[in-house]
Amino acid sequence: MALPRLPSIYLADEHEALRRSAAAFVDREIRPHADQWEADGVFASDLYGKAAEAGFLGVRYEERWGGSGLDFLSTCVLCEELVKGDSVGTAVGLLAHSEFALSTLADEASDELKQTWLAPAIRGELIGCIGVSEPGAGSDVASMKTQARRDGDDYVISGQKTYITNGTRANFITLAVRTGDAGPGGISLVVFPTDTKGFEIGRRLDKLGSRASDTGELYFDECRIPVSNRIGEEGRGMRYILSHFGGERLVIAAFAVGIMERLIEIGMDHAGERKVFGSSLSSYQTWRHRFADMMTQLEATRALTYQAARLLSDGEPGGDMAVSMAKLYAADAVQKVAAEILQLHGGYGQIEESPIPRYYRDVAGFSIGAGTSEIMREIISRSVLNTKGSG
Ligand SMILES: Cc1cc2nc3c(=O)[nH]c(=O)nc-3n(C[C@H](O)[C@H](O)[C@H](O)COP(=O)(O)OP(=O)(O)OC[C@H]3O[C@@H](n4cnc5c(N)ncnc54)[C@H](O)[C@@H]3O)c2cc1C
Repeated sequence: MALPRLPSIYLADEHEALRRSAAAFVDREIRPHADQWEADGVFASDLYGKAAEAGFLGVRYEERWGGSGLDFLSTCVLCEELVKGDSVGTAVGLLAHSEFALSTLADEASDELKQTWLAPAIRGELIGCIGVSEPGAGSDVASMKTQARRDGDDYVISGQKTYITNGTRANFITLAVRTGDAGPGGISLVVFPTDTKGFEIGRRLDKLGSRASDTGELYFDECRIPVSNRIGEEGRGMRYILSHFGGERLVIAAFAVGIMERLIEIGMDHAGERKVFGSSLSSYQTWRHRFADMMTQLEATRALTYQAARLLSDGEPGGDMAVSMAKLYAADAVQKVAAEILQLHGGYGQIEESPIPRYYRDVAGFSIGAGTSEIMREIISRSVLNTKGSG
């Protein structure tokens, strides 16, 4: 049964066209392979090329680099659809490349770097990842230690990154390194080619959900790269990371919207078909009301997410707070919906031949990745208290 959707005051015809093309791509290129990729622990690398051909890897980037020059709302619509292929990990791997690894390159890098790395990445010829987190520095990004020592026209990089999506097969890393003193002002971003001498991939980490995306440990031992690989100015890396977190968080919020739609749709079909004590589940008020709650959570998440996307696209004040609210609410809502749909299916909700247990596991990470829910609350409360002049 197709899910009714409230008319949107944000979306235009171009967004709906993108939605249709993404949905067709998912039916053709993702869902038929989802079970295999989840079992393999990684999706096929040629999907990057196919996604590029469909125009999905450069949605918001300038046309001169091969992008489509669209807005954050377009990214949201794309994410909603890509995640419905019953393999959240596949959508995560694609967006970790197209949004997480490429956004600072697109906005802050020199034209030379864009030509060498951004354009081929948008064409799906190179795979990128973002390397920020370290064993001792996750939420507290500013405490990261991976060092880039200046030696003539080179940086010599030593250190370690962990939990890096696409890390075991990326051609380059948008890498956060310490070029100066301790603290946020000593961090810079560089493009790091993974064929650099001294670079090693550690374990591919086995994880609870998003199992078709590879997640790696990365090691750097006296790796030499040119200073010209630096993205933007030295010492401004933390600013670039913070100002681009918005895009990453919107991706997660939009994933949540898509997953809720998919799960509620599956749930509505089941509630109509499954008879208990002579009546369909959907005839019981307890389930009817739970669907009402789930639809309300879905539409509330969508509204917050689209509003945040609009503010971010327009560069309006309040964008960061709106994004944090959307991500915080989305992670909570999608976890509740996944639990409800699991419960609705009784024993079958536990069986791996349905996508329900997979989605249930996948969404557990939504309150962690791209900034935890505790950090979202910190950002929101800081904005609110500062606005009132009491912060
Ligand atoms: C599957 C997966 C993929 C990932 N992909 C990438 C990637 O591609 N690139 C990358 O750089 N990183 C990636 N990460 C790392 C991710 O961004 C971090 O896991 C996340 O930022 C949390 O950091 P942490 O794991 O070190 O937890 P910690 O920072 O140690 O947090 C532990 C707990 O403490 C809480 N906490 C932290 N600070 C505060 C505070 N001030 N007040 C109250 N509570 C607080 C947190 O909310 C959390 O509940 C990925 C992680 C996972 C699991």
